[in-house]
Amino acid sequence: MSITLADITASIESLWPIAGQEDWDASGLVTGSLTAPVTKVLFAVDVTDDVITEALEWGAELIVAHHPLLLRGVTTISEDRYKGDIVARLIRGGCSLISVHTNGDRVETGTSATLARELSMTITGPIVSHELGGGIGVVGTVSSQRLGDFARLIADVIPNTASGVRVAGDFASTVTTVALCAGAGDSLLGHPAVRAADVYVTSDLRHHPTSEFREQARLDNGTALIDISHWAAEWLWLDVAAEQLREVRPDVEIRVSDISTDPWTFQVVQ
Ligand SMILES: [Zn+2]
Repeated sequence: MSITLADITASIESLWPIAGQEDWDASGLVTGSLTAPVTKVLFAVDVTDDVITEALEWGAELIVAHHPLLLRGVTTISEDRYKGDIVARLIRGGCSLISVHTNGDRVETGTSATLARELSMTITGPIVSHELGGGIGVVGTVSSQRLGDFARLIADVIPNTASGVRVAGDFASTVTTVALCAGAGDSLLGHPAVRAADVYVTSDLRHHPTSEFREQARLDNGTALIDISHWAAEWLWLDVAAEQLREVRPDVEIRVSDISTDPWTFQVVQ
């Protein structure tokens, strides 16, 4: 008996319940028929044109993407708009799309926890607790080391990107307590658990929030900031998620896309 998209969505719901997503999020099924057969599933952080090409060439009938394609409302899926083009390619190619976003972040094997474990962090809890357990971001400890060495460790653990690893802080300052939020975590800059840590690791930090945080840190705990590629921070989670789905669905082929969907392609170092 063939496996259907309904079977896979049920397995995904058991691993990453949709009730665990943030109220602004749009996880879940984006395109596809629940009665469609599924034999191959491709995991990716973002559903981009290149990722769809990989999925269709491999013969995948389902992409599980971390980021929701339709997070914000659209008024057209005309194919001269990229979201319309992507939706059309998926439907014509017989490939469904599901997003596992903050419902995948929240669980104890989520994006932040996965990166933290790669950094040999001892996790003591989330930054922001969720009523279903787990939560957004993690706090914990690492063996005492210099901030610069911790940044190097991160660079060694995550996939290479053009933007590399940026640090706001003194290279030789000591790091023991860490707050970490894989993905865009600037909304947590004011959180007490972040401000109490020796360093906060996240992505997509801008000038003013970073500058203001560091100026305040000068008067408080001196918390440093480490800014890493959003894609790289979350890509590590795909292997963990794919393995979890394999365990409950050994009857389908599951692959993780190696395509970098980091939009930055190169950097000129001064
Ligand atoms: Zn993200």
